[in-house]
Amino acid sequence: PAVIVAIDGPSGTGKSSTSKAVAAQLGLSYLDTGAQYRAITWWMVTNGIDTDDPHAVAAAAGKPEILSGTDPAGPAITVDGVDVAGPIRTQEVTARVSAVSAVPEVRTRITELQRTIAAGAPRGIVVEGRDIGTTVLPDADLKIFLTASAEARAARRSGELKGADVHATREALIKRDAADSSRRTSPLAKAGDAVEVDTTDLTLAQVIECVVTLVEE
Ligand code: C5P
Repeated sequence: PAVIVAIDGPSGTGKSSTSKAVAAQLGLSYLDTGAQYRAITWWMVTNGIDTDDPHAVAAAAGKPEILSGTDPAGPAITVDGVDVAGPIRTQEVTARVSAVSAVPEVRTRITELQRTIAAGAPRGIVVEGRDIGTTVLPDADLKIFLTASAEARAARRSGELKGADVHATREALIKRDAADSSRRTSPLAKAGDAVEVDTTDLTLAQVIECVVTLVEE
């Protein structure tokens, strides 16, 4: 039977690296749901939609066609056939994605895509995001909630962004997590039956091993 693993938590906890490695090790598919919200945000920005206007965002939510690959070795993402793996990581998209993903019409649309992809994964899938265990896949076989101190999260993000200012990164990250946690529709939250793993003092290898062990139990 296919195994479904939900991995949620704020930014900078090592969610993506952990989820990809766990999927690769166990031969499972992988879905980065943050990339989908970034992709729809990229489309809004590119098409001149005012991302601070929830009505404009809602009206446009059904327009772009978003396709997500599920290979943990190289997860592809396209919008209307355009490869957006690079453009969805810009600071502009990162700054606007929380506002776009708070719009219920956007969440309904993306959640449907996520459920279809998860149901079609032959051996199972590792799905990472903010509301996977609570809303998207409440019947997942295993739910993990990753946490880490704000300092550790900012340091990791600055490391990834190569040379970015740690203080500015920390402020932006705290602001985005606060917005994601306080929205009305499926906020960032730990499911009641999720296993919480604090990654502050763990290496990536230790976190991966911990999650693989939990899946195999
Ligand atoms: O994981 P990542 O940092 O790429 O996610 C980008 C943004 O997408 C988050 O800050 C959040 O606003 C949104 N998101 C979401 N629900 C998810 C995954 C991501 O709202 N399941």
